[in-house]
Amino acid sequence: MTAPAKEPLYLDFAASTPPADEVVEAMLPWLRHAHANPHSEHFHGRRAARAIDDAREAVAALIGGQPESVVFTSGATEANNLALKGLLSATGARTHLWLADTEHKSLREPARYLSGVGVVVTPLAVLGTGLVDMSRLTEAWGAPHITPGVVAIAHGNNEIGTLQPLPELAERAHAYGHLLHVDAAQSAGRIPLDVEAMDCDLMCVSSHKLYGPGGIGALYVAPAVQGQLEPQLHGGGQEGGLRSGTVPAFLAVGFGTAAKLARQRIVQDAARQQQLATGFLAALSRHGVAVQLIGHPTQRLPGHLSLRFPGVDAEDLLARLAPALSASTGAACAAGELRSSHVLRAVSLDERTAGEVIRFTLGRSTREDDIEVAAERTAVAISRIQEHSG
Ligand code: PMP
Repeated sequence: MTAPAKEPLYLDFAASTPPADEVVEAMLPWLRHAHANPHSEHFHGRRAARAIDDAREAVAALIGGQPESVVFTSGATEANNLALKGLLSATGARTHLWLADTEHKSLREPARYLSGVGVVVTPLAVLGTGLVDMSRLTEAWGAPHITPGVVAIAHGNNEIGTLQPLPELAERAHAYGHLLHVDAAQSAGRIPLDVEAMDCDLMCVSSHKLYGPGGIGALYVAPAVQGQLEPQLHGGGQEGGLRSGTVPAFLAVGFGTAAKLARQRIVQDAARQQQLATGFLAALSRHGVAVQLIGHPTQRLPGHLSLRFPGVDAEDLLARLAPALSASTGAACAAGELRSSHVLRAVSLDERTAGEVIRFTLGRSTREDDIEVAAERTAVAISRIQEHSG
């Protein structure tokens, strides 16, 4: 498929990022002629295995872990499933799971499944900013009947952009004997991470959220936890027995290249995207648009804007914007649902106000004039909606 000459402006980088040119270049030889099964004991196989090891090192370096702790998966959804289903069961060592109502479906749905097979699943209280309510943790975890379990949380929330205080959460979870699994699909590659210094036990990453190819991700599993994790795919025993299946070399090479690039650019990308986000808010205000930022005002993913336009129906606004720009209401994975987003309701927005929120997420290729155009188009679309309803 060739790209049309003039596409709408893409402001949905939290849903997916386009593979970087360097990533595509690095992948091509592995698609064309370097193909082999990395588990084969011959020249071609060993060459593919070395490429996968390089990629493993790059992904580990991006999150501050050791390569031996990185398990390749098909994406963050699979990694979240492996983490939760692999650690929890009704009769095993860990029978209790905590997660906030603001979590992505790839944590919520495995949790719902586990609850159906006897695991105790309890919500973690969140504040209106989307932050976990740290003052309620003692109440949640300090009761005498609570046995060590697992706490699962996204570092950066995909819909509202709020960033959780990881080292503090890890410290509190560990004080009660719980393991902390962190979904870093949105934050890895966007803000510097150090899984060891942050003391997280497990962490998942998604390649297509950091300018790598889709179809690959990873689960970091701290060495002390590896023996506690029950594999969910059984077969050839690849990935240290934790995830059977042939690792696709071309995807791993792309993911590794994206991780290296992200590590080099992370500080400058974050600063630039944050500056552009601030510029977008300023431009909206210059156009006289009333707007409320949803999520935490400062502890948030760079370049991530979850915006409520009071009195303006978000679906209507998106439809009017669609020829000019691609943004979203809620998570792409939940698109098509009639009810407003569970995340917005969890941070205390009612059905009507939750229906007035649009997510604009900026990325590496977003330019200053894109921001100006986006603000102007939004202002025009809103005034048309208001004329119609007025
Ligand atoms: N977790 C979060 C926070 C996400 O934003 C996403 C993607 N929307 C996922 C998990 C799932 O990632 P993947 O597409 O790699 O399965």
